[in-house]
Amino acid sequence: METVPIYQLRVGEVYRSLETSPNGLNQEEIEDRLSLYGRNLLSRPVQQPIWKKFVTHTIHPMALLLWFAGLIAVFVHQPIMGVVIWGVVILNATFSFWREHRAEQAITTLHLLLPIYARVIRGGMENSIPASEVAPGDVLVLAEGDNIPADARIVEEFGLRTNNSTLTGEAVPARKTADASFRDGISELERPNLVFAGTSIVSGTGRAVVYATGMLTQFGRIAHLTQEVKEELSPLQQELNRITRALSIAAISLGASVFLVGHSNLDMGPLEAFLLAIGTIVAVLPEGLPTTLTLSLAAAGQRLATLGVLVKKLSTIETLGTISIIATDKSGTLTQNQMTVREVWMAGQRFSVSGAGYEPKGEFTPEPDSPELQSDLFRLLSAGALSNNARVIPPSREKPNWSSLGDQTEAALKVAAFKAGLDEEILANQFPRLHEIPFDARRKRMSTIHLQKNQFGNHSGQEIAFVKGAPREVLAICNYILLNGRTVPLDDNLRGQILTTNDEFSRNALRVLALAQRELPRRGAGGAILGSSYSVERIEQDLTFLGLMAMMDPPRPEVAKAVKTLHRAGIRIVMITGDYGLTAESLARRVGLLTEPNPTIITGAELDQLNDLELQELIKQNAIYARMAPENKLRLVAAFQAQGHIVAVTGDGVNDAPALRKADVGISMGIIGTDVAKEAADVILTNDDFAAIAQAIAEGRTIFSNIRKFITYIFSSNVPEILPFAVTASSLIPFVWSVWQILAIDLGTDQFPALALGTEKPEQSIMHQPPRSRSKALIDTSLLLRAFLWLGLIEAALCYTGYIAVFVLSGNPELLGITFLENLHIPSIIDIPVEQISLVAATVFFAGIITAQVGNAFASRTERGRGRWLGWFSNRSLLVGVAIELAIGLLLIYSPINRIFGLVPLPAIYWVWLAPYALILYSLDWTRKIFIRRLQVVDENT
Ligand code: ATP
Repeated sequence: METVPIYQLRVGEVYRSLETSPNGLNQEEIEDRLSLYGRNLLSRPVQQPIWKKFVTHTIHPMALLLWFAGLIAVFVHQPIMGVVIWGVVILNATFSFWREHRAEQAITTLHLLLPIYARVIRGGMENSIPASEVAPGDVLVLAEGDNIPADARIVEEFGLRTNNSTLTGEAVPARKTADASFRDGISELERPNLVFAGTSIVSGTGRAVVYATGMLTQFGRIAHLTQEVKEELSPLQQELNRITRALSIAAISLGASVFLVGHSNLDMGPLEAFLLAIGTIVAVLPEGLPTTLTLSLAAAGQRLATLGVLVKKLSTIETLGTISIIATDKSGTLTQNQMTVREVWMAGQRFSVSGAGYEPKGEFTPEPDSPELQSDLFRLLSAGALSNNARVIPPSREKPNWSSLGDQTEAALKVAAFKAGLDEEILANQFPRLHEIPFDARRKRMSTIHLQKNQFGNHSGQEIAFVKGAPREVLAICNYILLNGRTVPLDDNLRGQILTTNDEFSRNALRVLALAQRELPRRGAGGAILGSSYSVERIEQDLTFLGLMAMMDPPRPEVAKAVKTLHRAGIRIVMITGDYGLTAESLARRVGLLTEPNPTIITGAELDQLNDLELQELIKQNAIYARMAPENKLRLVAAFQAQGHIVAVTGDGVNDAPALRKADVGISMGIIGTDVAKEAADVILTNDDFAAIAQAIAEGRTIFSNIRKFITYIFSSNVPEILPFAVTASSLIPFVWSVWQILAIDLGTDQFPALALGTEKPEQSIMHQPPRSRSKALIDTSLLLRAFLWLGLIEAALCYTGYIAVFVLSGNPELLGITFLENLHIPSIIDIPVEQISLVAATVFFAGIITAQVGNAFASRTERGRGRWLGWFSNRSLLVGVAIELAIGLLLIYSPINRIFGLVPLPAIYWVWLAPYALILYSLDWTRKIFIRRLQVVDENT
């Protein structure tokens, strides 16, 4: 028998064909189906073969230059040199490959840390389960902003629209319905009653039965096309590539000069001069630079993950460091999103509600003193509990406290109803739901339509709508009010009372919702309301006002401190909220965002009146942006960016997605954020912790300063490496430095401390400075001066002192050709055979660079600061790096390979002379830092 496609079945048949029911699957069925169909996962895409990845590290321009240099060395009968240079390329490629692998692993781990959940009905109860455990037959509960975890057939919907762009490329939301679809000539993707994995809900709510999971979904079929996440180059990486290119050109030019000078001025043979030129090129090329940045980013990404900040692309960390404005929403970001109804206003009276959290235990004071008032209160609370999609969950083993699922505002309304003794099941029987007009951030209202039964369970077809939403927005469409059991016209006096009460509640940072109802005209009777025409215009009008319910959403405890930190770091925080101005203002004061007595509060409607020029003027001042619609938020973000700001935006709703995308850094909350917001964001705060933003910014700023530390360190040693050529060429001190020694330092000893500097933790003072301008160059004059003309020259001076001392103290100053030294008549105190003197002196020079670089590694940890707070041992990898540096140095000097490098073993006593180099260099730079701090009166840690 031919099977009927799922989209042609009616709702009842859908359940039957998938052997499930509106109550969902039971435990046994779930296990059976998971073992039969497998978990709802996509298989990993085919990776690029390892050898291919490795090869890419051996063919970049710098490596090609070295391949070529090696080839020339072989060509000029220096095969060992050639092989060594090639070995260096391979070694370097191995390093880069390993680092890239680490960085990739870090990214994969970050993605794994991001759990994806789905809401399903199982065993008659709504549950939140990992999306990977969704099985065919599961009944999905769909709401605005959800990602759809599997392919499913709609069985119920209210205004459901999906965004299918991941599958179809079509960005216009598609309307979805539960009716069977028989149309010919349309593809499965176009069926209005099917939803697909990888797409998301733009608006509305609904339920759908899963019919395909994992690789069997439409998305699974094309997954191999879309899964690969490509890391694009960050601005810093691009800048580093530019620097590397410039340095490569400088290296070749310098190499050419060395060749010419060596050959013509120093009477070197072409071969000898050529080898020196190669050495110079290698000395100047900053081999580890780009990969160190990747490694620093990966390390920062992992550190951030432990702090609850997931960055989707490592390059975002860098942008975090340049943020100058944070546009934040309120609920759930600055507040805990733990709503509890505290006050109620109804029929001209106020009631306080006690109790904490979502536990339905608390009292209404005063108690309503008449049956009419009691019935009004019940009606208000019933309206709140019925126009509601949240679920209040009793304590369980996994969650020892009362908790909630769904919208927290709605959960709070339900809890308040339970506190008054209302029962959910009885309410649902008395008012079965017929339809829902979902909440919309522009309308700021939500309505549900119910059948009204009497206490005996009978109904006469009377339908009733319950409407809840922002007080002014609800009040505007109310003509009546429920007063002591009677529906009476709503006069101006009562309207005034309602608005005053709303403001009073709001001034205490309470979020206020108004509730209203409307008995709908009966079907058939004058202008019948039919199922398909439950439109906003028809339902949300001519309402009867029921009351106000005000709920507390306490500020997150960590926010006030984070606000202080961010302000100190020169970052402006702007609140852009959908909530009421007075509520927003009151909360802003509580968390330290506002200190001035009369702040400017701008509403979305007012913002709409401004032209772009007026808006540019407005945003220069500190204001609170309240009752903002999503498009207002987007416009504000663009306006801030137009003023040159780097803008971070926090958001959690589906409507925040455009602003999150527009922002330089979009930040979404991991727990309360909708899937759509999380997808649009660059950063996800896994614990919804606002304070983590400050830490993320500190990390971002650190990357920049760490790379500067790294560069300072490697540039410094270039001076003592290159200077001997200039000195020799100018016939001052004849000393020609071996190419092997340059290679040993640049590709051997220097690498490890440099790498460690790239992973320094954030400095405390990093958040005491204003944000860095994006145009600030990574390598600026101050860095170059410090590296070349200060640290580098000190190193060179120390190394030359050691070099000369060997000649002088061994009684052979005349070999240097410096008459002044010959005339000093210093007695010879060390005994070196004459033919060994040059070798020993060169080894002392070489060892001098190594010990001076140890001091430099510690000096480079700060630019101007004392670094007292850093502690000597806080960067363990730096200690390891220095240990490796020394070990390699000793190996080169004392093992038999020293011959290749033109080095000889030094007597132990020489180290008494060499070791203090580290201290001397460190102390001199320390003195410079003190001097600069005095001069600039800067923060001592900078
Ligand atoms: P923020 O944008 O800072 O997170 P918010 O959560 O108040 O603030 P929205 O979700 O856009 O912003 O809500 C705007 C207003 O709509 C709220 O202040 C409230 O009055 C009303 N509202 C919020 N949730 C609902 C709901 N589920 N049903 C009806 N009205 C709601």
